[in-house]
Amino acid sequence: MDYTPEQIRQWDRDYVWHPFTPMKDYDEQDPLIIESGDGVRLKDIDGNWYYDGVSSVWLNVHGHHVSEINQAIQDQLQKIAHSTILGQGNVPVTLLARKLNNVTPSAITRFFFSDSGASAVEVALKMAIQFWANQGNSRKTRILGFTTNYHGDTMGAMAVAPDPLFHWPFMASLPQHPRAPYPDCYRCPLNLRYPECRLACADLVEEAIRDKQEVLAAVIIEPVQGAGGIIPTPPGFLSRMRALCDEYQVLFIADEVATGVGRTGKYWAIEHDEVTPDILCIGKGITGGYLPLSVTAATEAIYQQFYCAAKDRKALYHGHSYAGNQLGARAAVANLDLIESTQLITHVEEMARTIEPEIEALRDLPYVGDVRQKGLMIGVELSKDPKTRTPFPYARQAGRIIQEIARAKGMILRPIGNVVIFMPPLASTADELRAMTAILRGSLEEGQSRLSQEEEA
Ligand SMILES: *Cc1c(COP(=O)(O)O)cnc(C)c1O
Repeated sequence: MDYTPEQIRQWDRDYVWHPFTPMKDYDEQDPLIIESGDGVRLKDIDGNWYYDGVSSVWLNVHGHHVSEINQAIQDQLQKIAHSTILGQGNVPVTLLARKLNNVTPSAITRFFFSDSGASAVEVALKMAIQFWANQGNSRKTRILGFTTNYHGDTMGAMAVAPDPLFHWPFMASLPQHPRAPYPDCYRCPLNLRYPECRLACADLVEEAIRDKQEVLAAVIIEPVQGAGGIIPTPPGFLSRMRALCDEYQVLFIADEVATGVGRTGKYWAIEHDEVTPDILCIGKGITGGYLPLSVTAATEAIYQQFYCAAKDRKALYHGHSYAGNQLGARAAVANLDLIESTQLITHVEEMARTIEPEIEALRDLPYVGDVRQKGLMIGVELSKDPKTRTPFPYARQAGRIIQEIARAKGMILRPIGNVVIFMPPLASTADELRAMTAILRGSLEEGQSRLSQEEEA
């Protein structure tokens, strides 16, 4: 492949439609085009190196160009790249399912493979609705979601997390699902404070569940909201949800696409509350950030409701062409092996504690409204006026100002609205994390004058 950096820039401009990207704004900036990566850093086509401060949008685990994962994929390539798992098996997917059985809560025993987090969620929703239908209950067709949630960009996933800002053309096409307020302590729906509140917000959820009990198939929740702005559930909230689901005969779906595989300092974020969901959605970090593969994991009780012969018509008729892809599954096995051999989960927990003082200290900066951290999942919320918790208007793109400055300082970030998200690769060392948090702080400091200028403008 022969090309110059200028050609790549031009062809990117001419042909590529970037996801989740207002393309006019994109065209007005100097495009960032990555050519290679090594460890926790990425190199662009001009030879500049950057820290991967968001793990290539929340995927990366051991860094880039990891010899063990590279080797596993190369070994697999010598055998076969892909054959279907519709009605037949393959070796890596079998090994991966067995490994997942070892690392997920013991009640979770069955693993359904897809190729993206959104499809893992679609499968979870369909499993939940059909679980009841297979038992003759066709009324339970609704899913309770939470405000400011995010479950992916396909129609079903949007329907449980509609956002007028992004989904306005589709609002009328989406089925209506009920929603309850998310336990966001920075913007408490009840204006209370944890722990004196004694989780009064959970009572609001109980009302919503009780109200819709007859039609509710499941509750879907992110144990820490990711795209919503890195918002952890307060301790005890998830176990309350689990108890409510049991009481009202509703399934509990944990969307751990962002939080799973060690990101929060536990293998699964639900472990912070010692909860077992009925259905667990896994994506992003499962292949170490290498290849598209996702999993919808279920308990035996769920699986048994689908266990039938063709004539019974209770099977789950869902499948993607590339489901259970061998290269992806082999990469995932290598990733999980490496997590074990490097004791990565303990490392994440230690590193999270190591950088916590520096992260907390960001609160002293003038436009920082809130700082939230769960493991190596960190959000710094910018605020026009931290005292009154007033957000910058969306059009101000406050987060993007910090993103631009950080890039010039050698770190890639991708904010969501006013929240600057910092999600370093899980294997980052203490020194690498210190370098990254220094850039984060430096960017926020340097951004102050621009935020205040644009404030007056
Ligand atoms: C990223 C994400 C998804 C969607 O995953 P994709 O692989 O981008 O389709 C779903 N749920 C959560 C919580 C996520 O963070």
